[in-house]
Amino acid sequence: MFPVEKIRADFPILQRKVNGKSLVYFDNAATSQTPKVVIDAIVDYYSNYNANIHRGVHSLSQEATDQYEEARIKIQHHFSAKKVYEIIFTAGTTHGINMVASGFSELLENGDEIIVSALEHHSNIVPWQMLCEKTGAVLKVIPMLQNGTLDMNSFDEILSDKTKLVFCNHVSNALGTINPIKEIIEKAHKVGAAVLIDGAQATPHIKPNLQELDVDFYVASAHKICGPTGVGVLYGKEQWLQKLPPYQGGGEMIETVTFEKTTYAGLPHKFEAGTPNICGGIAFGVALDYMNTIGFDKIAVYEDELLQYGTKKLQEIDGLTIYGMSDKTAVISFNVDGIHPYDIGVILDKLGVAVRTGHHCAQPIMNFYKIPGTVRASFAFYNTKEEIDVFITALQKAILMLS
Ligand SMILES: *Cc1c(COP(=O)(O)O)cnc(C)c1O
Repeated sequence: MFPVEKIRADFPILQRKVNGKSLVYFDNAATSQTPKVVIDAIVDYYSNYNANIHRGVHSLSQEATDQYEEARIKIQHHFSAKKVYEIIFTAGTTHGINMVASGFSELLENGDEIIVSALEHHSNIVPWQMLCEKTGAVLKVIPMLQNGTLDMNSFDEILSDKTKLVFCNHVSNALGTINPIKEIIEKAHKVGAAVLIDGAQATPHIKPNLQELDVDFYVASAHKICGPTGVGVLYGKEQWLQKLPPYQGGGEMIETVTFEKTTYAGLPHKFEAGTPNICGGIAFGVALDYMNTIGFDKIAVYEDELLQYGTKKLQEIDGLTIYGMSDKTAVISFNVDGIHPYDIGVILDKLGVAVRTGHHCAQPIMNFYKIPGTVRASFAFYNTKEEIDVFITALQKAILMLS
């Protein structure tokens, strides 16, 4: 039995009421909640050893540096990266993608091609469009199919020796689809293209082995994996990180500076200009420890039970359509005939149930289905079947009021 009641006690926020009702938090794909160990780590940092890192000889600075670098090692082990300096701290997924896109603006030429998938988050579309404008490279799209998966035959057709980069999310945030990234990486490598995988939505559910995947870049955000906002990770293979120019100039990323010439520091500092989110990085490590103690295998099995249960319950409702029915994580994106998703979201909130409504930063997917948006219920390992029952009752109430 998955110890969900014990786990729920680790999350103070799950005890609160919203609009007089017990909170049912089903917006985990937007951000996860924070366990007390992570909150304690943040309080401990500011209460006991807040200091700037890598610079001071004094004790607090040493302690902060040690904890921060230890977090980097935890992240390295979690993602099975070969070298600890292949782990770059970022402000989050969006920041990591922009770092790579900006670096590639110096490596691409007019007529080169880059490929993105139709299932992307805006943060994985817009930076590449900006990159294409700057370099004259051409953006190609792997189309999607009705069931919410990628059309891999079309991928074979658009892939060529002109392809320099391929970008795809590991799991779609709008639909939950788990993409065949191993196959994408293998095929891209055959034509000599690099691959960046956006792991923001996969990492709460799947522990990826980056060496085994042989991926060139992988990005994620701590706040979707029980950590704080404003911190994340960019993994890059050593040879790629050596090749890319630094993203920002500033302190911490230099070796020597004169007004004539600056030489850059080695990895990972070359990409970490300025004072980072020290506390956030440390708390990120604590969050990964917490989730690993529960175990990603167990989390995946339990969340799938929630997904199957929720899907079955929703399918019993007349006029309800679920988008994306494939191999997926615990995300259910749906609409009810004749009702705007926003209206459903507002009434659910009045009843204490938090879901996301709208286009989920993935307008191309909504355009594909010709809908303005969806209601998205996304589950985490601390949710329960009882909460799904509360949600279904609230949804039925909303449908009655709105139809
Ligand atoms: C949340 C998310 C992002 C953006 O993450 P930030 O933490 O906002 O930078 C990017 N891609 C996917 C798939 C996401 O789910």
